[in-house]
Amino acid sequence: MSDSCIFCRIASGDIPCSKVYEDENVLAFLDLGPARPGHTLVIPKEHCSGLLDFPAEKGSALLAAIQKVAAAVVMTTGAEGFNLIQNNGAAAGQSVFHLHWHIIPRVEGDGIETWKPGSYPDTAAMQALAAQISSNIGK
Ligand code: AMP
Repeated sequence: MSDSCIFCRIASGDIPCSKVYEDENVLAFLDLGPARPGHTLVIPKEHCSGLLDFPAEKGSALLAAIQKVAAAVVMTTGAEGFNLIQNNGAAAGQSVFHLHWHIIPRVEGDGIETWKPGSYPDTAAMQALAAQISSNIGK
């Protein structure tokens, strides 16, 4: 728990939230600035700043909670699908540095944009980059 972290303070009950789910390790609550009504944040109660700090062995409990919450968000909002988004680093749009997943309920034509697809110069360039990333796995 970090006193300077707003999501730690929400997890400890120090700051109120619109809670939708809680278990021993996970809390889910509505985002204050929703992309669409029902936009929900799922956080581990234990502080970590982003995905790379999170103990992977705790991942399956967290994933189970995300599935339960996403199913309830979709059922409640009548969504046709949802985005599961997790930003890491300011450059990626992270503004709260306590690991969290956004569940955003979606319907066709709702106007929310994700990313515009780009391209590689050619297949060789694409394969070379894949090989470089592959060589850094586990480092
Ligand atoms: P990110 O930009 O991925 O770090 O997302 C942080 C999210 O937290 C934003 O969508 C904010 O609207 C949301 N947020 C910040 N403070 C609160 C709060 N006290 N309660 C609910 N959501 C919050």
